[in-house]
Amino acid sequence: MKRRDDITKKQINDFKKKGFTIVAIAKKLGCGESTIYNILKGAGKEVHTDNCKVCGKEYTYIGNIQRSTCGEESCTKKRKVLIQKEDRKQDMGNVRPYSETTIIMIVQDIEKGRSAKEMAEMYGRDQDDVKRLINKIIADGTVGRVKRMLSAYKNSNTIRKGGSVRLL
Ligand SMILES: [Zn+2]
Repeated sequence: MKRRDDITKKQINDFKKKGFTIVAIAKKLGCGESTIYNILKGAGKEVHTDNCKVCGKEYTYIGNIQRSTCGEESCTKKRKVLIQKEDRKQDMGNVRPYSETTIIMIVQDIEKGRSAKEMAEMYGRDQDDVKRLINKIIADGTVGRVKRMLSAYKNSNTIRKGGSVRLL
């Protein structure tokens, strides 16, 4: 496969004048169609300078394709691992401990007949994790306790303001 910087816009345009299609030109020049389009768009000759996100070395690249490493195999590999770790971290963001306040809200949601999907969306959490929590707090009696606490609170003001009620 030919590198993009070996091909000039003029070469492509000469072929075009002769009536070649993009597919045919790509074949003639030994590159992909997207390369031809990119060169025609003018991206082919733009040189960018950036620093490798892994080793910090300065590198240059041609065209619009955003790169984040110097292109060394070791850097490319390390970068891949880093990105995968980041993705995993973001997944973990939806699965985090529930505060007592959130549990009280979820119990109220259960009473209102809201689905786990709705709750997951409202609280920015993982749907399956919300389902797991609902099953757990129903099974261990937390839901019953919270309901009793809430109705007690409604009926009288026996729970002091700011006083904490341990649920779990
Ligand atoms: Zn590097």
